[in-house]
Amino acid sequence: MAGSAPDAAAEGAAQVGGQVGGQVGGQVGGQAVVGRVAAAQAVAQAGDEVAAPVAAEIEAGTAAYVAAEIVADAAEGAVEEAAEAGYFSSLSVIGQFNASYILCQQGTDLVLIDQHAAHERVAFERLKGEFAGKQVDSQGLLFPETLDLSFRESAALLENLDELARLGFALEEFGGTTWLLKGVPQILAGSEYQRIIRDILEELGSLGRSRTFSDVQEDILARLACHSVVRGRRNLTEQEVLALFSQMDLTDFSSNCPHGRPVLQRITLAEMEKMFKRG
Ligand SMILES: [Zn+2]
Repeated sequence: MAGSAPDAAAEGAAQVGGQVGGQVGGQVGGQAVVGRVAAAQAVAQAGDEVAAPVAAEIEAGTAAYVAAEIVADAAEGAVEEAAEAGYFSSLSVIGQFNASYILCQQGTDLVLIDQHAAHERVAFERLKGEFAGKQVDSQGLLFPETLDLSFRESAALLENLDELARLGFALEEFGGTTWLLKGVPQILAGSEYQRIIRDILEELGSLGRSRTFSDVQEDILARLACHSVVRGRRNLTEQEVLALFSQMDLTDFSSNCPHGRPVLQRITLAEMEKMFKRG
């Protein structure tokens, strides 16, 4: 007799837990963690209520714990669903390290994102898409810039004028080795155009007979992408991080990174515990 009351209490608590878990799991979506905490509290309460009349606190407590586990599992499922909707947007941001890395948590993983690499990657894929379409979106300069080039640079420019136009650079011969820059890729707006053009001309000038523009096309797009994003350390607002993440969710990460550098690193809880010689 004394043994059956705690069992019933445990069963009751587990039932309540299962119901709450199912509901919460279905509803929480992006707020899985909040949902999990609230649900666990609700279950603990429910467990107490059932347990108190029959003075089987320990068993009921266990049942509440088991129920909380069920809730946690359901919430985990919600996290996975959120991941499908957009991996980066589903990460919970912990903060920023050294104004260069975004620290995030996903489940029990610590996820580190190199913000320059991430911005660069988004820019690279955008440029690649525009270039493959027809030409990189260009923006006219209100005040054309004069470029005084070396003979070698000017020759490389003349040789690749069409390709440079496709890259979004509007250039006009001014006389001798002087050129007028009248338009730039939209993505570069506000950057140091002269430096960027010299950078590209250096690459183009190195093309011999065996290599053509299409051989270095990706490399040049990567250089443009790199110039288009902040290189140094920078504090990002929460809005900027969220905007970056939603852009990253729209970016195809299947092809190789332009600089071969990783955008993301993950440290699992097990790895972390090993570092601290736990368990
Ligand atoms: Zn870069």
